[in-house]
Amino acid sequence: MGKPTGFIEYLREAPSEIAPLERIRNWDEFHLPMEEDKLRTQGARCMDCGIPFCHTGSVISGMASGCPVNNLIPEWNDLIYRGLWREALDRLHKTNNFPEFTGRICPAPCEGACVLGINNPPVTIKNIEYSIIDKGWEEGWITPEPPLKRTGKNVAIIGSGPAGLCAAAQLNKAGHWVTLFERADRPGGLLMYGIPNMKLDKEAVVLRRLNVLEAEGVKFVCNTEVGKDLPVEQLLQEFDSVVLCTGATKPRDLPVEGRPLKGIHFAMDFLTANTKAVLDKNETPLSAEGKDVVIIGGGDTGTDCVGTSIRHGCKSLVQLEIMPKPPSDRASDNPWPEWPKVYKMDYGQEEAAARFGEDPRGYLTTTTKFEGDENGQVKAVHTVQVQWERNEKGQFMPVPIPGTEKILPAQLVLLAMGFLGPEQLLLDALGVERDPRSNVKADYGTYTTSIPGVFAAGDCRRGQSLVVWAFNEGRGAARACDLYLMGSTDLP
Ligand SMILES: Cc1cc2nc3c(=O)[nH]c(=O)nc-3n(C[C@H](O)[C@H](O)[C@H](O)COP(=O)(O)OP(=O)(O)OC[C@H]3O[C@@H](n4cnc5c(N)ncnc54)[C@H](O)[C@@H]3O)c2cc1C
Ligand code: SF4
Repeated sequence: MGKPTGFIEYLREAPSEIAPLERIRNWDEFHLPMEEDKLRTQGARCMDCGIPFCHTGSVISGMASGCPVNNLIPEWNDLIYRGLWREALDRLHKTNNFPEFTGRICPAPCEGACVLGINNPPVTIKNIEYSIIDKGWEEGWITPEPPLKRTGKNVAIIGSGPAGLCAAAQLNKAGHWVTLFERADRPGGLLMYGIPNMKLDKEAVVLRRLNVLEAEGVKFVCNTEVGKDLPVEQLLQEFDSVVLCTGATKPRDLPVEGRPLKGIHFAMDFLTANTKAVLDKNETPLSAEGKDVVIIGGGDTGTDCVGTSIRHGCKSLVQLEIMPKPPSDRASDNPWPEWPKVYKMDYGQEEAAARFGEDPRGYLTTTTKFEGDENGQVKAVHTVQVQWERNEKGQFMPVPIPGTEKILPAQLVLLAMGFLGPEQLLLDALGVERDPRSNVKADYGTYTTSIPGVFAAGDCRRGQSLVVWAFNEGRGAARACDLYLMGSTDLP
């Protein structure tokens, strides 16, 4: 612990950001780096707790509490305070293969569980992580480190999202030849196509790391959907082991009247088309420019649709959420160290508020139908307010409130209501067992599926979650796979 009285002396200071009305003019990241002396002061706020809840990575009430990859947070907070950046980077890489991703996009369950957060604003853990890894890149400390010895074993990883990338990095480190199959034209999973460029820069940040992995010996095979372009029989014959990291990409639909109208799209189709256009330097085929946009779903995916629509230059924007507005402080049934379920404006809502004058979210609202024009193009969304009531089985259900109906103009509707598990084509072809939620059945910790030598990790095993859980699972599955191939393992 660098400074025993730091938490008393210093206030929390978050990094500055480019102002909303300025940053919506482009697709660049908008967090500004913090000066070194300020970072050291923030590191000094850490109390080096006897039980560092920031680091624990448990699940409480279904939500992450503490860091799921068990980052050695108090250690690097102290190293930053003492100006030992290289040592801090080594500590960070011990538990996290790609801190530049989590440092940018993790919702930071570590900060929700920080002990200082009981009666003060928590330590700025996420910004310290971001600053350590970015300094590592700036200083040229991150270079390819291929394994010294190869085992001669071949592993196929299906899906190149954060789970697949972590599994690849770890298995390559253990000396196996790793081939990563990806059906998209670029690797990265939702890090590439999903999370928009302004949150995570594709060329400057994602590709930079993929290039290092490639130089370390990981082979990327894109434009190949396993189970379709590559038969599973060939896969199982050519590889000694397989790790499934295919994500949970089946979107939840809204089957109300008017759903087939033109102009109603799943959020991922909109976001993917946009990032591809940004990278290919083209116009997106799904632009919100000049349109009234209604986004259905108040979560992170919906927020990314808000930020993207604003950058296109939409005419108006509404984001509908069926749940009530969260309280401004923790409710009594949501105590520390649980993930704080409190009202906050994310980047997209801040931008919408700056552009249109208010938070675009409408709570306790559901959609009853879509209305079209004579060309079959959506022109309006019909909504009604709801209240949550228990039904005869005791389940909470949204009940429409008569007289609260509204009609919102909309030429573009984006459905961002979550995901229903992994796509089934490959899983059916493999004949792998599923759990009742259609995810691949494999226990957390062993990652072993019903087929010997086939492992599963990330969203395809646990359902749609967070990048940091995908990291945790990719690393765990790599360990299990190495143990299967070699009979013992040194992987953490
Ligand atoms: C829009 C959006 C924004 C999000 N924002 C955040 C955020 O800010 N912070 C956060 O922590 N989490 C966020 N998440 C969640 C996070 O991105 C996921 O939990 C995480 O990416 C899951 O990682 P994964 O590796 O399991 O799967 P994915 O990232 O989904 O990757 C799976 C990959 O497998 C490929 N694939 C599937 N089937 C095949 C096949 N048969 N052959 C070849 N390839 C195949 C897919 O094309 C895909 O590239 C967001 C999710 C979405 C949708
Ligand atoms: S819980 Fe907070 S104060 Fe305690 S060690 Fe972790 S970061 Fe430091």
